[in-house]
Amino acid sequence: MKIYEKAPAKINLLLDVLRKREDGFHEVEMIMTMVDLADRLEMEELPRDSIMISSQAGYIPLDEKNLAFQAAKLIKDRYDVRKGVYIHLDKKIPVAAGLAGGSSDAAATLRGLNRLWGLGISEAELCVLGAELGSDVPFCVTGGTAIATGRGEKLERISNPPQCWVVLAKPPINVSTADVYGKFRANELKQHPSKANMLNAISHGSFTDICENLGNVLETVTLQLYPEVLQLKESMERLGADGVLMSGSGPTVFGLVSKEAKVSRIYNGLRGYCKEVYVVRMLT
Ligand code: ATP
Repeated sequence: MKIYEKAPAKINLLLDVLRKREDGFHEVEMIMTMVDLADRLEMEELPRDSIMISSQAGYIPLDEKNLAFQAAKLIKDRYDVRKGVYIHLDKKIPVAAGLAGGSSDAAATLRGLNRLWGLGISEAELCVLGAELGSDVPFCVTGGTAIATGRGEKLERISNPPQCWVVLAKPPINVSTADVYGKFRANELKQHPSKANMLNAISHGSFTDICENLGNVLETVTLQLYPEVLQLKESMERLGADGVLMSGSGPTVFGLVSKEAKVSRIYNGLRGYCKEVYVVRMLT
């Protein structure tokens, strides 16, 4: 039997860092949602007890370093499954882009193997397993729109923002999340984005207020290190996106756009100098 799972990319409408904790992680407050740019995973049981990964993308590890491999190993070990699986990853989400591609693949693997092997694991339990693989994995297990706190693993589901277009642009650089957090200084921050305002905007379904309250404190680090990210933000604003923000630790910048007529102007304007531009919908 073969099964399929979609692994969508996430964007942060808000990303705030409150402090560095004693365990080395940062205490964060994020509002995350999903967009319709997704990897597709195909899973098939193997006659022998092993995990095999393949992908058309030549630039990701296909061994135990792959997050999908780690997710499969974790679920096998924890639930004592003596079966093997072959996972094919059709990568569409750019890698090391701030879109949680690897985390979403891990989450899709947990969901998929739960189905393939009929394990009956609850979503809450899958989230607990996911947290062992990475801070963004629990959110990717549940999807939707959520407030994430702690190191990102504590989730509170909220309503989805109103439907809109999302233009994503990734400059040709790879940004290490660990490096950005390492350079971030919470005590030097002059302003925090307002979580209350963003939640209010989402609960009222106000697209304008959502655009006005987008905020990501990691921009203070990434935009300084990589001026091309700042340049992309400015271009998107100039081309008419209603709200623009860097996703996660970057370098992908997203623009929220309400009117379809504006989208092709923004896409064409960016494509002039940025190779990786995607036009997708918010997943609501
Ligand atoms: P986040 O937003 O959670 O920080 P990201 O989008 O910045 O994540 P990923 O695309 O998840 O970053 O990739 C980060 C690293 O993980 C890359 O260096 C990549 O080699 C490795 N990796 C492991 N498994 C995967 C996978 N299934 N897909 C993509 N990258 C993977």
